[in-house]
Amino acid sequence: MEKSADHTPITTHLLNWYKEHKRQLPWRETSDAYSIWISEVILQQTRIAQGEDYFLRFMERFPNVQMLAEAEEEEVLKLWQGLGYYSRARNMHAAAKQIVGRFDGTFPNAYSDILSLKGVGEYTAAAISSIAFNEPRAVVDGNVQRVIARLFAIESSIHTSAGKKSIAEIAQSLIAEESPGSYNQALMDFGSMVCTPTQPRCTDCLLQDYCAAYAENRVIDFPVNNRKVPIKKRYFNYFHIVQGNSTFLQKRVMSDIWKNLYEFPLIETLSAMDFTQLEQTIEFSDLFSGIPSLTIDHLLTLKHQLTHQLIHTNFYRVIIPENYLFASPLNAIKIDKEQLSSYPVSRLTDKYITII
Ligand code: SF4
Repeated sequence: MEKSADHTPITTHLLNWYKEHKRQLPWRETSDAYSIWISEVILQQTRIAQGEDYFLRFMERFPNVQMLAEAEEEEVLKLWQGLGYYSRARNMHAAAKQIVGRFDGTFPNAYSDILSLKGVGEYTAAAISSIAFNEPRAVVDGNVQRVIARLFAIESSIHTSAGKKSIAEIAQSLIAEESPGSYNQALMDFGSMVCTPTQPRCTDCLLQDYCAAYAENRVIDFPVNNRKVPIKKRYFNYFHIVQGNSTFLQKRVMSDIWKNLYEFPLIETLSAMDFTQLEQTIEFSDLFSGIPSLTIDHLLTLKHQLTHQLIHTNFYRVIIPENYLFASPLNAIKIDKEQLSSYPVSRLTDKYITII
């Protein structure tokens, strides 16, 4: 095996492995910082198979930073629909405007400038710097944490600053100075393809001889992860109001999940309520009092899981008289029902729309 004098054996093995097993992905065919940035943002919290389609669609519609900066936010959110974590799309749009405003439309090449862009944290800045600009900065994502925690049997939790610091320092110490982008991608790919969370392929692993966790027969003990995030339960009651050929949508403007996406008029309650209880609430009266005749059907119950929230949801369809002058509830907008699919909505609302 070819070996650079500067490399540790682990780095050399990883680079050789990467040459052979590198996944062919559209953003790996380029060193254009804009494309790499878009791919990195899409791939945070998204599987590669799903992210690839989004990346291709995004690049087709916004092939450069100027076009992204000039787009309406609603169009960006619509293209993002289904990927979740919508703050990523809003931040990316804002960062495109920063690049046009502060850097004349040229993607900055200094790490500190990249880090100053909206929504860009240390991980993304290191990924762009190393892959697009060959800067020797190690990236640390969940895959890297797992591989290094196992190789070096790191006993500190990956949620403590001591654990994070140890792993980041080791990742940096292993970096291949002349090909930092390949090293970073090799380590991440190795984590997702070989040193996987639950069934690592230790028996044919090329790093077996260097792996402390394997030597101690304690692979599943690493990475140490002692944080339990409580799941918050929420109770959403959506009202799909139908008036002739129209319906109503409202925009979520508060600082909460799904900011700036659209949804049907919503009553959120602190506990689960059946319709009889819901009817007694002030919010229900505010929404529907004064309407001479209402037909209400309970159409769907869904549980929607987000990372830290479980949303129990009821969807009701409410038919109101066509000739009734209905004041838009909760600042909702009245739209033609054919336009429903053109608005950016959460995956939860989209599930309902696709089955009605
Ligand atoms: Fe990961 Fe197992 Fe290889 Fe160690 S031996 S690096 S735990 S796959």
